[in-house]
Order: sequence, then C-alpha cells, then structure tokens
Amino acid sequence: MSFDYDLFVIGGGSGGVRAARISAGYGAKVGLAEESRMGGTCVIRGCVPKKLMIFASSAPEAAEEAQDYGWPDATAGEFSWRAFKSKLDTELDRLEAAYARGFESVGGTIYHQRARLVGPHEVELANGKRITAKHILIAVGGRPQLPGIEGEELGMISDDLFLMREIPGRVLVVGGGFIACEFATILNGLGSDTVLAYRGDKVLRGFDHDGRVLVTEQLGEIGVDLRLGLTPTRLEKDGDGVTVRFDDGSCDRFDAVMFATGRSPYTGGLGLEEVGVKLGPKGEIVVDEWSQTNIPSIYAVGDVTDRVNLTPVAIREGHSFADTLFGNNPRHLDHSLVASAVYTRPHEFASVGMTEDEAIERGRVEVYDARFRPMRSAFAGSDARVMMKLLVDEDSRKVLGCHIFGPEAGELIQLAAIPITMGATKEDFDRTVAVHPTIAEEMVTMRQPTRRHEVHQDGNS
Ligand code: NDP
Repeated sequence: MSFDYDLFVIGGGSGGVRAARISAGYGAKVGLAEESRMGGTCVIRGCVPKKLMIFASSAPEAAEEAQDYGWPDATAGEFSWRAFKSKLDTELDRLEAAYARGFESVGGTIYHQRARLVGPHEVELANGKRITAKHILIAVGGRPQLPGIEGEELGMISDDLFLMREIPGRVLVVGGGFIACEFATILNGLGSDTVLAYRGDKVLRGFDHDGRVLVTEQLGEIGVDLRLGLTPTRLEKDGDGVTVRFDDGSCDRFDAVMFATGRSPYTGGLGLEEVGVKLGPKGEIVVDEWSQTNIPSIYAVGDVTDRVNLTPVAIREGHSFADTLFGNNPRHLDHSLVASAVYTRPHEFASVGMTEDEAIERGRVEVYDARFRPMRSAFAGSDARVMMKLLVDEDSRKVLGCHIFGPEAGELIQLAAIPITMGATKEDFDRTVAVHPTIAEEMVTMRQPTRRHEVHQDGNS
C-alpha cells in the first residue's frame, strides 16, 4: 500500500518538531499539522516567555544589589509591560519562524490546521482533507487544567499571562507546583501585589523536602502573601475584578486570578478512542519504551503521554523515535534521571535523581547537606542561604540525588547531572578540585555527612 507520507506528525511543539525534522533529515517524507503556532507550549506560552519574564522581574533586585555594591543611585524605575511585551512578541515570532523553517528546509510540509485520527494510517484535517501515512506520531502536549469550581472561567491560565494588556494590581495565584511558584515570583517582581493560595503546607509536592521548605520561605521573604492550607471554592465577578471565596469561609477581592492547578494531556477530540488507541486514567496516551501505542502504526511523545512532562524529555523522545524508525539507530530514553529546575527568585531550586525520602526507602544513605551565605549576596547584606545536598548510597558510594537551592541552580544542576548520569561516586566528586571562589565549589568540598539513614528491617529508617 502506498501512503501520502512516511510519517505524519500531529502537533508542532518541541517533541513533534524534533521528531519530524530528524525523520525528514533521514530522507522520510514528513507532514505535520499544527492548529496554533509552531513551537508549541514551551516556545510560545511556556518555558521561553516565562524565563524572559523571570529575567525582567529580577531588575529591582539587581538595582538594590547595585546600591550595596557602591552605586547609590541605582534604581530599576517603573516596569513597562508594553515595552517588554513588544520585544517578547518579536522574539516569539522569530522562534516560531525558526521552528517552521528548520522543518521545511529538510523538505517537511506544514498544515496550519487541526488534525484528528480517522484510522491507523489516516488523519483528517479541519478542512476535511484526508491524508494517509505509514506512521503517525501524536505530539499534542497538554493543556492547563482548572479546579472545577463555580466561576472558574473568570480566572486566567498560564497561557493568558503572556497576553495580558497590563500587569494586575492585585493578583491571586492558585496552586503550589512549578507554574504557581514561578508566576507568583514573576508577578511579585513586576510589581503586582501577589497572593498565593495553596492547599498544602508547603509548595512543590514531590520535590526534596528541604528544597520545598526553602522555596516556601523564599516566596514569603520576597513579599508574596502566602496562604497555605487554603483552596478557593467560588469566583464571582466584582466590577473590573473578581471576588474569591475560600474553603475557610473567607473571601477576598483581586484584579486577576490565575489558576496553576496542573496540566492534563490534550487528547480530547483527536479520534483516539474511535481508532482504538489505549488511553490511561488521565486521558494520556499509553506507550511503550519506544513511544509506540497499542496500534503499531501510531506513536506518541511528550506531555500527551504523561511520562516526565518536561520539554527536553519530549525533544529526546521525539529524536529517539526518529532515530529508531528512520535512522537505523534504535534507542529510547531512560526517564529515571531527568534534572529539572524551578525558576524562582532570587534562588532557583533544581534537582536531579532521588529525593532524600526516596533515597532512604532504597537503603543506607549518607546525606551531605551544606547551607551557607554566598559571597555575593552576603556582601550586599543579605541573609539568603544556599542549600547544596548530595545523597550518597553508603554501599555503592554512588551519588543518588543532588538538590540545589541557590542563584542559577538550574545552570548548576545541568552540570551536576552529567557525572550523576555517568554513575559517579562521592569519591569522584571529592577528587575533583574546586573552582574558587564559587558557589558550586561546595559540591566537591563536602567532606563529612550531615546525617546518615540506616534502613531497619521493617523498612523504616
Ligand atoms: P503541577 O502538577 O506541578 O502542580 C499543580 C498544583 O496545583 C499542585 O500544587 C496541586 O496541589 C495544585 N492543585 C491541583 N488541583 C487543585 C485543585 N483542584 N485545587 C487547588 N489546588 C490544586 O502543575 P503545574 O501547573 O505547576 O505545572 C504543570 C507541568 O508543567 C509540570 O508538571 C511541569 O512538568 C511543567 N512545568 C515545568 C517547568 C520547569 O521545568 N521549570 C515550569 C512550568 C511548568 P497538590 O500538590 O496538593 O496536588
């Protein structure tokens, strides 16, 4: 049977474009459908604009620090959302064009419309055109998920933040994950009176305990009004703003509300059930380690599979898929050691490998936990402390996890992730000579464990 394409990709985000471009580079005939802008969540309404907003929001701190370094007149002045937004739009247009060009330059064809499956080898575009392909890859990502409360349509989701006409005077952020912590930090830095309501007792559930404590404390220290153990139950329109009722009976008025209550796979209306593609409980596409679904011609990568929902993971899954199918180089991704960073300010929190609680479950563990005031901010009079934590398996001496709370922790963890991925031992870290004076040198100078965990026979430490 002959097909229109060797591969048809649904979704022009990080994972889909990487798979499509690499496959086309191997000589495959590749088509791709994208209903919105090329680049997807990360480039258009996620990591990229978010990180640029983090940079923008750090200007007042930089000015304050400059004063402490002998520049008495340094001031950030007034933030102009309009000026920033116009530059941001130009940058996103550039990136979107680069994504499209990169694929088209290797012979790929882009259909700027929604597509859905109509068979194991066939998709239908929104204009009714049907296209056949030997292989179909679904890379449609995820969508913000609302909490299901009355009036929630009055709130924003993270996508909307990048489209704001002005910075809200008083804003409520709901949630305690990556997005809530980062956006509370950004909005606070850009001048919004920011309230963060989270139902738990400290943010970032699932991360290392000590890092969670430090991020929670830092949010309060930078001026975010933290309301822990609190959940909104109803939103009501109130003039230009929104009145929010909470589960403790209180209510409060905000100019804007942003929900950061998680994301779910964007599988609705894709024709998956009709074609018989197996879905998991959250609507995610179930795949094996080769990203193949139960229908042999259909594959899926990225957040739509709900494995590790991070851009570089989607990219690596897409690349591995292309290498396997068209590059004669079968390979798949090991999802067990993926580093990530939460871009809070002034300190970021970044991790790779096991949390302390997870390491304890596994066996005898040494914990190296260094806390110190870094030279730069200490000179400026700040009490802010950095945390560097290494978790070491006492028997194999391997470093099982690394957690950093400090300036540029995202940059540091990327480098720490290399030896840890290679299986480095604590002694490998120790024989590495320090770079002085840096924050990162602590990573190779932690001589004595701060604590040890023994696993008792009942499994408790
Ligand atoms: P997360 O799943 O990380 O966090 C969702 C938060 O919302 C949790 O704190 C959760 O509470 C809370 N929540 C969920 N449902 C409700 C509800 N009904 N009422 C009140 N609170 C609720 O999702 P995010 O939206 O923060 O991020 C989505 C994904 O985006 C992440 O998985 C991450 O992979 C990715 N991302 C990565 C970034 C990075 O790498 N820097 C940055 C931003 C996003 P609880 O903890 O109690 O369940």
